[in-house]
Amino acid sequence: MTRHYNFCAGPAALPVAVLERARNELVDYQGRGLSVMEMSHRSDEFIAIAEQAEADFRQLLSVPDNYKVLFLQGGASMQFAMLPMNLLGQGGSANFIQTGIWGKKAISEVKRLGYACHLAGNSEAGGYVAVPSQDSLTLSADAAYLHYTSNETIGGLEFDYTPQVVREDGQHVPLVCDMSSNIMSKPINVADFGVIFAGAQKNIGPAGLTLAVVRDDLLGRAVPNTPSLFDYQMLADAGSMVNTPPTYAWYLAGLVFQWLRDDVGGLVAMDAINQRKAEKLYSAIDASDFYSNPIAVANRSRMNVPFVLADSALDKAFLQEADQAGLLNLKGHRSVGGMRASLYNAVPEEAVDALVAFMADFEQRRG
Ligand code: PMP
Repeated sequence: MTRHYNFCAGPAALPVAVLERARNELVDYQGRGLSVMEMSHRSDEFIAIAEQAEADFRQLLSVPDNYKVLFLQGGASMQFAMLPMNLLGQGGSANFIQTGIWGKKAISEVKRLGYACHLAGNSEAGGYVAVPSQDSLTLSADAAYLHYTSNETIGGLEFDYTPQVVREDGQHVPLVCDMSSNIMSKPINVADFGVIFAGAQKNIGPAGLTLAVVRDDLLGRAVPNTPSLFDYQMLADAGSMVNTPPTYAWYLAGLVFQWLRDDVGGLVAMDAINQRKAEKLYSAIDASDFYSNPIAVANRSRMNVPFVLADSALDKAFLQEADQAGLLNLKGHRSVGGMRASLYNAVPEEAVDALVAFMADFEQRRG
């Protein structure tokens, strides 16, 4: 068996230990004579798996009791629509800090539903190379919540602070965060947020599962006629089982949480490893004139590191040779080009060492 280093932005690398455990349990789950994939979601076995996964997630992120953790489908993109349907029922405007393509997509989804949007901050004009400062944010008078993307996966731009959400009239509004690409990469204070959501396919597990962490007081506010599968309250009441949930993805997410807790040692330890990995790669980029990254140092993403070659004519050769060296999926997003190395939790430090060594070698031969 050969495992290459996978720098894909998502669906992304999973911990080998998790894949191996899933393989061992694939055909016969713990002597029950069937696969998790074949279990009823209402069976005692699956309910135990589901509850354990939630308990481990709560423990890892220290989720307070007044938050529900929902295991959903539809991807992070479906949350772009579910959020206004659940939080804007009584009118008011969704406020956004736009720091890249995912924030922009979220805004267009809210507009599609006919809701008002206000940009409390926007770094598009500068080319999304820095996040707006806290001081520059301006919430609209009728702001119902503030939505931001803690890590923009395509641009490689990560917030280095948690926005404050007090309107000019002194009113606190819920903070909504798309944490798809940096959830569980470091400890956070869940109590700062009204809703946190994330597609699973980066730091949580395989695609097909989306997590939403919703503060209790934000349940039960959906606009009338909201379909049950879009209503946070109904989903929470049903333990995320209004219909059949993505059972196997839920199980795998549970294995990832156990790996994070038992093998890594929790999110403080994960954070330290992630810092080291990112520092190694950014140092290599900064030390060379051949590679560059445009992002303001304080806002450089620890999860997604985009970089360009001084001569883009070499892009193809770089990608081909990297692939041959077992360094997979380094092509930048089609909208920005260049390269991108995603360094999610499951990407080991050796992968970064191998990438840095390859980059130095490539520069020496081709630079
Ligand atoms: N938000 C962010 C920050 C993302 O990186 C992505 C996917 N790459 C999405 C939203 C959309 O996720 P999904 O494909 O699960 O809808």
